[in-house]
Amino acid sequence: MSRFTKMAFLFSSIIVCGAIPIFAQSDLDQRVAREMDALVATYKHLHANPELSTQEKESSALLAAELRKLGYDVTDHFGRYDSPGLVSYGIVGVLRNGPGAAVYVRTDMDALPIVENTGLPYASHVRVKRADGSEVGVMHACGHDVHMSVFLGTARMLAQLKDRWRGTLVLIGQPAEETVGGATAMLHAGLFTRFPRPDYVLALHDGADLPAGKVGWHEGTILAGADSVDISVRGYGGHGAAPQNAKDPIVLASEIVVALQTVVSREMDPQLPTVVTVGSFHAGTKHNIIPDEAHLQLTVRTMNPQQREKVLAAIARITNGIAAAAGIPAERAPVIEIAKDNVPATINNPELARRVAGALEHSLGKENVLPGQPAMASEDFSLYALEDPKPPICMFWLGASDPAKLKEAKERGARLPGPHSSEFAPVPEPTIRTGVTAMSGAVLELLKK
Ligand SMILES: [Zn+2]
Ligand SMILES: [Zn+2]
Repeated sequence: MSRFTKMAFLFSSIIVCGAIPIFAQSDLDQRVAREMDALVATYKHLHANPELSTQEKESSALLAAELRKLGYDVTDHFGRYDSPGLVSYGIVGVLRNGPGAAVYVRTDMDALPIVENTGLPYASHVRVKRADGSEVGVMHACGHDVHMSVFLGTARMLAQLKDRWRGTLVLIGQPAEETVGGATAMLHAGLFTRFPRPDYVLALHDGADLPAGKVGWHEGTILAGADSVDISVRGYGGHGAAPQNAKDPIVLASEIVVALQTVVSREMDPQLPTVVTVGSFHAGTKHNIIPDEAHLQLTVRTMNPQQREKVLAAIARITNGIAAAAGIPAERAPVIEIAKDNVPATINNPELARRVAGALEHSLGKENVLPGQPAMASEDFSLYALEDPKPPICMFWLGASDPAKLKEAKERGARLPGPHSSEFAPVPEPTIRTGVTAMSGAVLELLKK
């Protein structure tokens, strides 16, 4: 059944049974449909004009201008980075509609340093110079352009449907998600104190594993927490021909890399996903020199704070234990540094997730709402749940793949290019329509009269 015939059918059923909720849903569908041409045009414009993290000047200006036109009270250039000289392009749009709860909806705005390889007519050809003078392509390879388009569509729906809800809607355009720092910049600048106190915070993220037209939801952890760990393994250097006079940090670091594999395989609950990857190993300058130090860089992914503590403690215990076993004295013990810009796991509040899922089923139809899988990627959306008043948060997945191509790929046992791939190509329709209907439906549920 086409969308249009389905609507016609629903209208005829109102006359028969007078079911107001069906009328309301059909009304939302029609309103979204009316905006689609404009939203897809905006999407293609954003896609062709991506901006790197912390550089979201034009994207944020576009969002701010659109929200102002719709009657939102907009604050732009909101946020404060730690590094001086960096401008935060965060925007906050507030729409007050009587007493009631405050729902925040967040979009991210930044793109990635990737040369686009989709061949789409609206592909990005943007190149920028990095600080070191090298040139890099810029691409919306994570679909934050989809998120911004859905955000604008949701802004329009909620402005048009003010008679169907009450409370306060706060729409936030967050910069610098990919480099992590945008959420912190907005929270440090007083997002939850200068603007209405949040009762709920919502977001969505597109994905290639779900067909366009469908969404996925999950209660509990939906994205892993990420830590970067640097380890300097210190030994005593010397001549390569006289190992007896040295403590070889390369051998030590090698033992540590191998032993770290047992953290996941032997220490962690197999039911709980964990990743410990050594992504970088650097030591030495020449064949016949035993160096003083070896350096390891790790990424660690965990699903909750307790698991994180356990993994980080195991890494320290194993690293220090191997060094001690090799006879490295305490003053030359390994130096283990956990980067401060870690991102905690994104944990969907179960009660809110179930309520949102109900709203998604109502607005999209049960058959279009699927159980979503957690991913080991990370998001600074997690941070909104940790800032006072620690509001419940919920992020859901938005299918973005061409359904026929996805089906064909699955039959071959292959995967379509997904976020962070130079070939990631979300289909604008029905991805954006589904996103707007889903997010608007979720907000209408949380702010219903
Ligand atoms: Zn990303
Ligand atoms: Zn993303």
